[in-house]
Amino acid sequence: PLAQLKDPTLLKTDALIDGQWVAGTERFDVYDPATGQKLADVAKLGPADAERAIAAANAAWPAWRNKTAKERANILRRWHDLLMANQDDLGRLMTAEQGKPLPEAKGEVAYGASFVEWFAEEAKRVNGETLPTFDNNRRLLVLKQPIGVCAAITPWNFPLAMITRKVAPALAAGCPVVIKPAEQTPLTALAAAELAIRAGIPAGVLNVLTSDGPGSVAIGKVLCASDVVRHLSFTGSTEVGRILMAQCAPTIKKLSLELGGNAPFIVFDDADVDSAVEGAFASKYRNAGQTCVCSNRIYVQEGVYEAFVQKFAAKVATAKVGNGFEDGVNQGPLIEEAAVEKVQRHVDDALAKGGRVLTGGKRLGGLFYAPTVVADASPDMLCAREETFGPFAPVFKFRTEEEVIQLANATEYGLASYFYSRDVGRIFRVAEALEYGMVGVNVGILATEHVPFGGVKQSGLGREGSHHGIDEYVELKYVAIGDV
Ligand code: ADP
Repeated sequence: PLAQLKDPTLLKTDALIDGQWVAGTERFDVYDPATGQKLADVAKLGPADAERAIAAANAAWPAWRNKTAKERANILRRWHDLLMANQDDLGRLMTAEQGKPLPEAKGEVAYGASFVEWFAEEAKRVNGETLPTFDNNRRLLVLKQPIGVCAAITPWNFPLAMITRKVAPALAAGCPVVIKPAEQTPLTALAAAELAIRAGIPAGVLNVLTSDGPGSVAIGKVLCASDVVRHLSFTGSTEVGRILMAQCAPTIKKLSLELGGNAPFIVFDDADVDSAVEGAFASKYRNAGQTCVCSNRIYVQEGVYEAFVQKFAAKVATAKVGNGFEDGVNQGPLIEEAAVEKVQRHVDDALAKGGRVLTGGKRLGGLFYAPTVVADASPDMLCAREETFGPFAPVFKFRTEEEVIQLANATEYGLASYFYSRDVGRIFRVAEALEYGMVGVNVGILATEHVPFGGVKQSGLGREGSHHGIDEYVELKYVAIGDV
């Protein structure tokens, strides 16, 4: 699939440190999850390379910090324009290594680029404050300054957007960055880095450390332990988030964590059922269920339960599974064997505990899994507690608003949640009662660049996107001036 890139020079397989492409002494393979075919071998870096990248970023920091906000904004704007000008090629790279259907991949390129555009604009609005004084001889100021060298560890499910959502605000604020992309999807990250160079991001300001699984763990240790690295932003599993948080404790590093979810999707009796079916489908089956905001548990009130499950299963049965490069496909492969096995484990468990399969329920060969709907789900099932991260929708029946709020909140996660209702009082009550960082009401898709994305409880710390997103990369400094 990569033979058809319009600009073949975007296929980069070396890592980037201090503006130099680094081949490394070892390599690791990247595969197409749809075919199992090897796509490329990529530089496998280790801890010493991570130290070098941190030093390069630190050396590049003063000149980057001292550019005017407008100069940084102009460079970011050029990066955005180049990402969009190469949307087709970036989409191809992404579909090849990640599996999501090509139109969805191109959509992610636009979504990923939108963070660069947004933070190019926000760079110019990092405003400090002057405060009322408590003494006429003093003046009180609040400065906003870039935090310093930032590290970003990113997942495979959004190979571009999870990078730009962290890197763009850091760069906008005046911070250099060291990125460790997921081992499954380094090609999109490296192509984006090549475009960053073309946009004029100086050497050392943006570094990309590629590695395989064990190499990633070793690099992660260096990034966490470094006292030059002042901030770590991570998107991935809650389990790995806990490890990184512990590893960052000795240096009291600032953290932004975007971790797992277990999103409830609630349909009340007063909902527009057809609209809820569309929303549930969009929310559940985007990226074949492999996003942290995908609904994991669908709760439907008894009055509309049968109507909803029948219509929803009929809709899911129309999904087209296949290689993401094929026309009309909207469900690609899962990322790896372990992901397929987890979905099967959740489905088997649900069936053993009384679930009723309405569609799907089986593997389709390779890493493909049939989009699945199981009705009559119950709280004792694995899918009620764990994030499935795949194309399996369990549907639970409930009776009262009070009951469903309690069920929805009965999880350690708190990222996205959704509900459908036409009752304005209920909309306010339920939106306020859900213990989640994000609530979609009568919508199944929430994310865009200018809203604060993030979770509560064990779904993470901090917010990405919006005008709040840059705060994570800025330190406040209080200055009191006396003898005025
Ligand atoms: P997923 O379940 O989405 O694969 P992970 O949390 O395992 O998510 O991985 C997300 C990112 O974290 C990837 O870039 C991966 O290489 C990295 N990673 C995984 N384990 C560690 C670790 N122990 N230390 C540092 N990085 C890690």
